[in-house]
Amino acid sequence: MELAYRDIAYCKNVGAKRADILRSELGVRTAMDMLRQYPYKYIDRSRFYRIAEIVDEDTYVQIIGEVTDWHTTGIGKAQRLIATFNDGVHQCELVWFRGVQYVKLQKHVKYLLFGKPSRFNHEYNFVHPDLTPWDKVTPEMTQGLEPYYNTTEKMKRINLNSKAMRTIIADLMPDLKAGVPDTIGVDVLQKYRLMSLTDSLINVHFPRDTRSMQNARARLKFEELFFIQLQLLRQMKKRESNPGFVMPTVGSRFHGLYKALPFELTNAQKRVIREIHEDLKSGHQMNRLLQGDVGSGKTLVALLCCLLAVDNGYQTCIMAPTEILANQHYETLKTFLAPLGDAVHVALLTGSVSAKNRVPIHNGLMNGTINILIGTHALLEDAVQWQNLGLVIIDEQHRFGVAQRAKLWTKNETPPHILVMTATPIPRTLAMTIYGDLRVSVIDELPPGRKPVQTIHYPLQRRAQVYSFVRKQIEAGRQVYVVYPLIKESEKLDLEDLQNGFNELCEAFPEYKISMVHGQMKAADKDLQMQRFISGETQILVATTVIEVGVNVPNASVMIIQNAERFGLSQLHQLRGRVGRGADQSYCLLLTRTELTKDTRQRMDVMVETNDGFRVAEMDLKLRGAGDIEGTQQSGTPFDLHIANLATDGRLLELARAAAREIVDADPLLEDEMNRIYKRRLDTLRIEAHNWSDIS
Ligand code: ADP
Ligand code: MG
Repeated sequence: MELAYRDIAYCKNVGAKRADILRSELGVRTAMDMLRQYPYKYIDRSRFYRIAEIVDEDTYVQIIGEVTDWHTTGIGKAQRLIATFNDGVHQCELVWFRGVQYVKLQKHVKYLLFGKPSRFNHEYNFVHPDLTPWDKVTPEMTQGLEPYYNTTEKMKRINLNSKAMRTIIADLMPDLKAGVPDTIGVDVLQKYRLMSLTDSLINVHFPRDTRSMQNARARLKFEELFFIQLQLLRQMKKRESNPGFVMPTVGSRFHGLYKALPFELTNAQKRVIREIHEDLKSGHQMNRLLQGDVGSGKTLVALLCCLLAVDNGYQTCIMAPTEILANQHYETLKTFLAPLGDAVHVALLTGSVSAKNRVPIHNGLMNGTINILIGTHALLEDAVQWQNLGLVIIDEQHRFGVAQRAKLWTKNETPPHILVMTATPIPRTLAMTIYGDLRVSVIDELPPGRKPVQTIHYPLQRRAQVYSFVRKQIEAGRQVYVVYPLIKESEKLDLEDLQNGFNELCEAFPEYKISMVHGQMKAADKDLQMQRFISGETQILVATTVIEVGVNVPNASVMIIQNAERFGLSQLHQLRGRVGRGADQSYCLLLTRTELTKDTRQRMDVMVETNDGFRVAEMDLKLRGAGDIEGTQQSGTPFDLHIANLATDGRLLELARAAAREIVDADPLLEDEMNRIYKRRLDTLRIEAHNWSDIS
């Protein structure tokens, strides 16, 4: 029977019990599913080491030698067997503390030792190594790369370990070698020089050599990325065939604001507005991602886009992730729009707007007198009904969570245009995957005259130095942020930290006024404290990360981040972006404990080295891997990658996207006979792309 249809329970070395666990733990139902469990690493069994060649604890090694001596210590459960292994030149220790009675050692016998060394008292030893008498060593054992498989606790409990996985998969090889149908067409395989599915499955598990292993993995990575891209691009095509509101006019409000701006737009801002306007004119629904570094002026671009819509007679909304940010947007927009007088009506709708005050807002939206609505999740409530919502701008989208679904326009035949703005840049590979069904506009230029923020890393005990620096800055008329980490699990503790920090600062700076803001304050108190800082009444703002996004106080020139080791890179960059918004030189001080892990040190180094958000994002991806990247974690990456890695497989991703694009461009619905295999495969994979119109 074809491997794709053979029940895993009926495969050799499996049986009902293992089949159950394979199904529940790994989702393996068929023999083919099993073959799709790729090794996470390989150990080169063709290489033999000398004891003197062992250099680290991370690499498995095999050594030929003899056991010259052994003894046991302890009794019962504490019993240990300690042996001396000699490779002819050097010796090392072997240790067993489980199943000691089963270990049978012989002198003057040649053994093959295989295991992972550990370092102990400056010497390497082996705990529970595999020790095989040389005359029992089969050629297969020392041939090529040995695959290792991920297993779970439940699997291990029934002895379904990596070795057992290997055995089950090895038993499928003869049938696999007879050939399985490919998932990718010959033309694509040839064009991109990819291995066939059969060969790649053989070589991913039992590679002839490193090269064939790499080729096999490349093909499987390509395949994984290709189907995701195919799905995303198909989705994009489908949505782009949606009708869209047509907004051809560049009218009086847009021009009015444009002329009233106290500065010139950057070329990048102009370009992205043009790109967006092309979409708004096209007659098809826009689905676009607006990327730009912190401070690149995304908000203003958003506002100008709103005015394009309003000039064409449509309503718009901007959804922000937090109340503080929504408030700030509202204030910013009102300031920008002041010269236009009554021509544009902006309203704010957040959770803290009272039921009574909602009524006029609801009415204004229904009868069309409100042109722009700024808000939080409150925008998504059923009671919010529009007269003619034409454009939705989602700011810092990741915070909404992908699962977010609402019904802003279910009653509309025509969906509104959608513009998604990210808080910080995201790496290209991640953008292509998470937002791969959106067109992308990038503001790759900061407004002129910005002085790059100077970032300095301080160990905590140099606090005195930090304080005297702060004092100088405040004396020069500047303001200072001091941010404490917020970890949800221990909000109490964090509040304590925050309160202590606040008290300490009050003591250190009796001559200055200090505001404090945190997530558990009432909105009104929070606003009051923010306002005091924004107006310059207080010189220092002590806060948790609630100030992370969007807050804009140009006179603040110092950002102090306490326990910087507890922040992710993109969060640090976001926070740093709160300063450097005025004409003065700004500083970001990263305070950490003295003892740092390698990972933390690297993060601090990246922050000190570069101000470029795109580089920070790339480093973040490299250091942490895609699954952990902020935002994607909150939103849940929509695609589980089993073999491809967005940090390292950028080139393959480009190729996979190009291949998918070629197919979708020629045949958007995958109806051609030769594209049937793709359609069928997508149906079985059920890759879920975002439905941005559903976020709606
Ligand atoms: P972002 O949201 O991309 O982080 P903002 O929209 O908050 O950035 O812009 C940061 C600051 O720069 C704001 O004070 C904004 O008014 C100002 N700004 C925006 N565009 C320009 C420009 N072209 N020239 C000068 N200042 C600008
Ligand atoms: Mg912003």
